Amino acid sequence: MTPGHHGVWSDLPQKNGLFLDFDGTLSEIVDDPSAARPLAGIPPELARLSGRLGLVAVVSGRTARELLVWFGRDVELWGLYGAERSIDGVISVSDELASYEPLIKNVLQQAEGRAQSLGIEGLLVEDKGYMVGLHWRKAADRARAAEAMSSLADELAAEHDLVQAPGKCALELRPPMEWSKGDVVSARTASAGLEGAAFVGDDRGDLPAFDALDRLEGEGLSTIKVGVRSPESPPELLRRADVIVDGPGGVLRWLRELAG
Ligand SMILES: [Mg+2]
Repeated sequence: MTPGHHGVWSDLPQKNGLFLDFDGTLSEIVDDPSAARPLAGIPPELARLSGRLGLVAVVSGRTARELLVWFGRDVELWGLYGAERSIDGVISVSDELASYEPLIKNVLQQAEGRAQSLGIEGLLVEDKGYMVGLHWRKAADRARAAEAMSSLADELAAEHDLVQAPGKCALELRPPMEWSKGDVVSARTASAGLEGAAFVGDDRGDLPAFDALDRLEGEGLSTIKVGVRSPESPPELLRRADVIVDGPGGVLRWLRELAG
């Protein structure tokens, strides 16, 4: 499907669902993750679309708390890749994930102490509640910082039986549970009785959502995989995309086209 041709969306809009990543998709990538904001114009556009489509959901590695501040209650919000959900402003997580909170708090403290002792400027340890983010985008020598933070992540993962997930100039330590953005897409498409679904994303963490759309397409649903291009987009994501847009500005134009 090409931009400007969304026939599937116009027939029965309330049977279509739109899922979107946040960082790099609705927000420009910034050096300090806490400085990110959705592009002006995007939250109202999503709110407008959520009144017309069956579902509009932001599915992000961010915490649900952050997403709630940026998007309010007008759209469905899934944080930590779908492990957290905000319903009417109330955030909930699965019992299994909640059971990891004390361990992750301990790992966070250790990560902060050890990152500091590396003596490298520009490292950041992020408290994500049920995950720990290790960032080095602000480091002057990113290659050196990446190596040091990867070693740190290896140590902590081994010591505490955690898993690692890569990001852009970042790594995450997560509880050893399997879940992804693809699970949200599959589960919500089924529970909302959707006949069409689109996902908009820019990074590796969005590939499981593309996988989910491929499965749904195999089951007869109409799907659109939208890849957001930036200098850092993984080639696989752009290769698999049905539609490619340029940065959050391109996403906003695509959303406006979708809304007609
Ligand atoms: Mg992203």
